[in-house]
Amino acid sequence: MKVVVIGAGLGGLSLARRLIRAGIEVGVRERDSAMESRFQGYRVGIGGHAMPAVRGCLPDRLLPLLAAIGGDVTGMGRMVDTRLRLLGEVPPQDEGTMFDRHVLRHLLLAGLADRVRFGKQFEEYRELPDGRVRVRYTDGTEETADVVVGADGMGSAVRRRLVPSIRIRTMDRVGAIGRTPLTERFAALVPGWSTMVNAPDRQLFLGTMKFRRPPAEAAADLAPDVALPDTGSYLRWVMLIPAEFATAAAGSEQDPVAALAVLRDLAGDWHPDLRAVFEEADPHNSGIAPLRIGDPVHPWPTRPITLLGDAAHPTPPGGLGANLAFLDSELLCRALTSVRDGTSELLPALAGYERRICAAAAKAFGHAEQVYESFDEMRRDAARRD
Ligand SMILES: Cc1cc2nc3c(=O)[nH]c(=O)nc-3n(C[C@H](O)[C@H](O)[C@H](O)COP(=O)(O)OP(=O)(O)OC[C@H]3O[C@@H](n4cnc5c(N)ncnc54)[C@H](O)[C@@H]3O)c2cc1C
Repeated sequence: MKVVVIGAGLGGLSLARRLIRAGIEVGVRERDSAMESRFQGYRVGIGGHAMPAVRGCLPDRLLPLLAAIGGDVTGMGRMVDTRLRLLGEVPPQDEGTMFDRHVLRHLLLAGLADRVRFGKQFEEYRELPDGRVRVRYTDGTEETADVVVGADGMGSAVRRRLVPSIRIRTMDRVGAIGRTPLTERFAALVPGWSTMVNAPDRQLFLGTMKFRRPPAEAAADLAPDVALPDTGSYLRWVMLIPAEFATAAAGSEQDPVAALAVLRDLAGDWHPDLRAVFEEADPHNSGIAPLRIGDPVHPWPTRPITLLGDAAHPTPPGGLGANLAFLDSELLCRALTSVRDGTSELLPALAGYERRICAAAAKAFGHAEQVYESFDEMRRDAARRD
């Protein structure tokens, strides 16, 4: 059996690792020309329920390194106004262990270089009379696989072809997302789980990514054959701003320097420590982007093409998308292994997988909705105080 995975994100790479270990032939095709080719580094929280799925796709020898590059957050959250006056305490959400997505992706890529081809953008597939699938890329090349997995994220081209009925909605706010190197001044802004800065028309969420050990140093010590990025601990910030800023922001999506200028403007009369967050931000890892969410998904007619992660269930930032991507890869590997072992036929095995991930995604949609409703409540609260 040959599996082609479209997309070398968290889900695609974790699936590939599992399939290789199961002895199943797999190739990963990634649109970007390299891991570093665009803003990729933000913090993702992996809950206790999903950590076994993360560990399970790595060999035992890399588990100490995985533990070393995690980060912990403890304590209460707090809500402040734009002058940093305390408005109240907020009970923490259990987000689990924090990881930097870019660093984690490098760890998942370790030892996979010959299976992953960068600069390969999926264009379309067609099913062949013998049941296999022919995949075409935008560079005109083609290949044939027994199973194609769309792990190509929120804007998945595989999903658009396979389940065109799933719509992606743009939310009524845009999100400015970025990071600022963690100094004492910025660490003091987030003494606990999270600090939320509440203004009537914009909310800023601050959190820390404090690596237990610097990733590059930890890799050199614990697994010298693995190269991890030289990323230091940082303050992660997300600012939700109304859609009318989208016009200014739209041009900034590919231009972080312009995006940071928009943010400095938006925080113009805020406390100096908050303004400094944007003044000292890392422009290579900051930007403004529309917030998108997909319709809740229901099982679709099963074909030898399937979906995984955000491609299957498009969740917005603040949702549980990374958790789901790891859990999906575990389930899909199990389904494909049963086909390889002859205990299941391909389509029933994929249908079972698709039913399970749709059920899990329904819960995650509920979670994302609650998170975004709580943001709306914050906005209303700030407007009342104003
Ligand atoms: C700011 C922010 C914070 C977040 N925080 C959390 C969190 O705390 N917890 C959590 O669980 N989730 C979080 N998420 C969501 C999480 O990052 C995603 O759900 C997760 O990365 C999805 O993994 P994936 O493998 O499905 O897709 P992705 O990681 O998006 O990977 C998709 C890959 O496919 C490639 N690709 C796209 N199109 C093509 C094509 N046509 N051909 C070939 N390749 C293609 C892309 O370049 C990309 O590399 C957050 C997201 C953001 C933006």
